[in-house]
Amino acid sequence: VTRVLLFDLGNTLEVDNALQPDAKAVVAEISQLHDGEGNAVALGLLSDYTMPATPAEIPTIRKEYLDILDALGIREFFEPVDERVTLSTEVGVYKPDRKIFRAALDKLAPGEHFHSAIFITENAAHVAAARELGMNAIQVRPPDGAGGDVASLKELVPLLRRLVQFSPCGKRGAKAKGSVRPELAVSKALDPTIKAMVDRVDEKRLMATVKVLSDFGTRFTFSPNIGKVTERLKQAFVDAGYDGPGECRYQSFDVSGAGPQRNVLASKGAGGTPIIMICCHYDSISERPSELAPGADDDGSGVAAVLELARLLADQHLGHQVLFAAFGGEEQGLFGSAECAQIAKDQGWPIELVINLDMVGAVTREPPTIVVEYDQGNARPENDAASKAAAKIMAQAATDYTTLHVEHTDIWNSDYMPFEAQGYVCIGAYEGGENPFYHKTTDTPDNVSAAYLTAVTRMVLATVLTFTAGS
Ligand SMILES: [Zn+2]
Repeated sequence: VTRVLLFDLGNTLEVDNALQPDAKAVVAEISQLHDGEGNAVALGLLSDYTMPATPAEIPTIRKEYLDILDALGIREFFEPVDERVTLSTEVGVYKPDRKIFRAALDKLAPGEHFHSAIFITENAAHVAAARELGMNAIQVRPPDGAGGDVASLKELVPLLRRLVQFSPCGKRGAKAKGSVRPELAVSKALDPTIKAMVDRVDEKRLMATVKVLSDFGTRFTFSPNIGKVTERLKQAFVDAGYDGPGECRYQSFDVSGAGPQRNVLASKGAGGTPIIMICCHYDSISERPSELAPGADDDGSGVAAVLELARLLADQHLGHQVLFAAFGGEEQGLFGSAECAQIAKDQGWPIELVINLDMVGAVTREPPTIVVEYDQGNARPENDAASKAAAKIMAQAATDYTTLHVEHTDIWNSDYMPFEAQGYVCIGAYEGGENPFYHKTTDTPDNVSAAYLTAVTRMVLATVLTFTAGS
């Protein structure tokens, strides 16, 4: 995933043939940004400019535009210009036509999903249109205007630094780091209590949750209905038995340009006991996220598993407190989980283990395989060993209590990352492989395997029970 930053020129970087104050310094600083994996961002310009009478005129008109960049002294940041400068002149349509955004993205990162791009402009209508496409868009306060997501170009720098640090929920297939398939045998003596518990995982309930979530149509972060999704989730936790004072709660956070956002958390028991957190994200995305983003597998499946685990563990007295979390703003850059991880750190939550479930409902390979992810470096190497030990428990749980095959990779690009960066021990479960419906309007419940989702939920339940029994 290449993070593409597309700038508008007129009235954003330049007004009346002069650069905005700080524009050059800001663009210079932004051009040096790197994503969380150390890859440089790709800077581009996307402008409406003179339409040619015939295609033969295009090179002359482009040259005219490039001469403006020279005169402004910012051309160096958009070299090579063949890749980095896209004009309506050659595309044949003006912003905010989908075609011109697509053309700009394809020049810089061919085929890349819209949501890996960030578009920066003063134009409110273009911001709205870019968000409809699933792009991240930031409105700079218009010259002589009001509002905007940032009041000045200078304010862009910290915001963009924050946005490019995490890639949006982009899952890897074959290239995953540290991919190994452990040799595992079923344990000789299985725990009858755990066996009885995993048998209680209810396939129908899991699929009912997946359907409820998909039936929202979209759970896109910028959707005006996103608050209704969290209300429904809170009610689901209450129905699962988290109905005491403070047992189910919201946690507010901001996503630039979006309405009010919140995570939904649920837990029972006294504070101070060590915590196992099981998390997922409820927001979704697609090629047309404003209209339709059912997100059945991504991550309706994880939410369904979390709610089912919450139900089954509500009346269990474990040595740990189990904290369930459904995060928002994941697809825009792990906003909900970053907020939660910061609060956990500031308040000293005694989290012993984070288990992230993101895309656990699709069979992408035969025999059905679960990827058990553990921490292999990242921000805090000192928590790697404990993560690997927990992943081994999960792998054994899969082998003992399900028929899933196991593959290990590293944790990557989902809601556990902010917790890892705060020093917590994190693992994840993920279907791996290539899900053809990923981030598409076709990520619907009929493409989720009830049997697979049930098996993964059983595996996580057995992991929690084994982990708490052994520590
Ligand atoms: Zn996801």
